[in-house]
Amino acid sequence: MNADGHRTETWDRQAALNGLSAETWDVVVVGGGVTGAGVARDAALRGLRVALVEAGDFAGGTSSRTTKFAHGGLRYLEMLDLELVREALTERAVLLSIAPHLTRATPFLIPSYKGRSRPGWKLKVGLALYDALAGRTRFGRHQMLDREGALAREPLLSETGLRGAGVYWDARVRDARLVIETIADARRAGAVTASYCAVRDLERSRAGWVGDVEDRRGFSSFTLEGRAWVNATGPWSDRLRRRVRPGSTRLLDPTKGVHIVVPRDVLPLRDPTALFAGDGRLYFAVPEGRWTYIGTTDTHNGGNIDDFGVSGEDIAYLVGAACDALSCKISDEDVVGAWAGWRPLVRAASSRDPSAISREEVIEQTASRFITVTGGKLTTYRLMAEETVTRLAENVGWNLKPCETTRRPLVPARIGGQKPSAGVDPADAGRVRELFGSDADDVFVRWREDPATAEPLGSETRYTAAEVERASREMVETLEDLVDRRLSVLPGGVPIEKDVLINVARAAAPVLGWDEVRQAAEVEAFRRSEHHP
Ligand SMILES: Cc1cc2nc3c(=O)[nH]c(=O)nc-3n(C[C@H](O)[C@H](O)[C@H](O)COP(=O)(O)OP(=O)(O)OC[C@H]3O[C@@H](n4cnc5c(N)ncnc54)[C@H](O)[C@@H]3O)c2cc1C
Repeated sequence: MNADGHRTETWDRQAALNGLSAETWDVVVVGGGVTGAGVARDAALRGLRVALVEAGDFAGGTSSRTTKFAHGGLRYLEMLDLELVREALTERAVLLSIAPHLTRATPFLIPSYKGRSRPGWKLKVGLALYDALAGRTRFGRHQMLDREGALAREPLLSETGLRGAGVYWDARVRDARLVIETIADARRAGAVTASYCAVRDLERSRAGWVGDVEDRRGFSSFTLEGRAWVNATGPWSDRLRRRVRPGSTRLLDPTKGVHIVVPRDVLPLRDPTALFAGDGRLYFAVPEGRWTYIGTTDTHNGGNIDDFGVSGEDIAYLVGAACDALSCKISDEDVVGAWAGWRPLVRAASSRDPSAISREEVIEQTASRFITVTGGKLTTYRLMAEETVTRLAENVGWNLKPCETTRRPLVPARIGGQKPSAGVDPADAGRVRELFGSDADDVFVRWREDPATAEPLGSETRYTAAEVERASREMVETLEDLVDRRLSVLPGGVPIEKDVLINVARAAAPVLGWDEVRQAAEVEAFRRSEHHP
């Protein structure tokens, strides 16, 4: 328990900053996406002193902008990259066991059309192989439906040329919370982590490497020294790499992936559905609460990896693809939100088609005591982290404890778990469990102590003050950090009423020390931010 009665630690950013330059760390991890978070957790659990710095908010890069699947990847199956698929399916099962509240096994639908998409036999063979590769970790056996069966299951499928469909099992994952909770567990194991701290330069030091770090909230800088460093900066990896090894050829050729969001009323799909666009690309339409999201694109889009904008062309492509494949008519006007992310795609100079490159990871010994880990998938982050820490230990000569991340739950179980009081809407209680796992107990206790904190802060967006308070403890610097990466499923993807934002800022204020002027400024900044169209 903390002094204020909550088990959940409040992540004090200033205390972290004070600590960062006070010692020489065993490992400094650069990047607080899923890869960096995973490395920090693994290294700390294996007994190392770990610091992690993130240039923006934790999960603010690619890791909150995904399609939100923990999957083996049908695309890789088609490329016959079977080892990659098997590995990812194993990690899918690990995720479900260590973070059951964030990961949900779900049936997916994949229709087959004459002349486009894949022929029925290929689909059948592919899905059988997918089941076989999952082995004992399979969630359910695939099923083949004829045309009538497919339409009965999903009446929205376009009827023209429809031959049937396959139903297969995969999982959905709350990407941003996966990162936040991985960082939380790294902190429990002793790691010191700070957001809004960008590594600007690096040079060799007696112990290993010393970095020049900019505190982007305090507008100051400090130095950070580590015996070993891990570059986990996702699509930005080549930038930091070149500070250490100037003139090296690029590892990555990032591509941009856009998702759009429409109201579920307009596209009332039942299950996540894999569809093929006119150009043969696989993409998904996914129902999520009151919304359906569609994505992703896969383009080089000018190659500016700092540009997260969504263009009219991206929207038109996805709207057009959905209208082709589904018997509903949506238009650009129905698009209420969108998000874009850059894939840290490992370079394959021989291929011109970005969709034809499989997402394998790279763990590169960039220099002595400096490893770059990039590529891969959200789904396989734990394994990438384990391999990175093992490589680092070999390089430096450390004898570490064995890795325990396949078994250790992300959120520790509690003895004598709390139940919400009678009268609490089970849907609200379920939502809070899905957000915080066993830490939902803090929210249930708060609801009981002060029933006003159990009141929804808006009629449609139902956060309560107690869950906002709880999420505010996770090093929140802006309202966007709180709403997009601590509370919501879809980042910036859906409109939130101004009244709700005001109420959320007010509920967070006691934890974050925001006065009324700051609360109003945060609400305005959120509404202006580029990815809330
Ligand atoms: C559109 C899209 C959909 C996807 N869908 C899926 C999916 O459904 N399932 C799946 O398994 N995978 C998916 N992926 C892949 C997955 O998202 C990525 O592989 C994964 O998130 C990469 O995580 P990362 O931590 O390496 O990179 P990031 O999440 O980008 O993290 C890197 C971090 O480094 C920080 N950083 C950069 N430079 C510095 C610096 N100098 N100092 C400090 N910090 C710095 C950045 O701010 C950033 O937060 C998808 C990817 C995209 C783009």
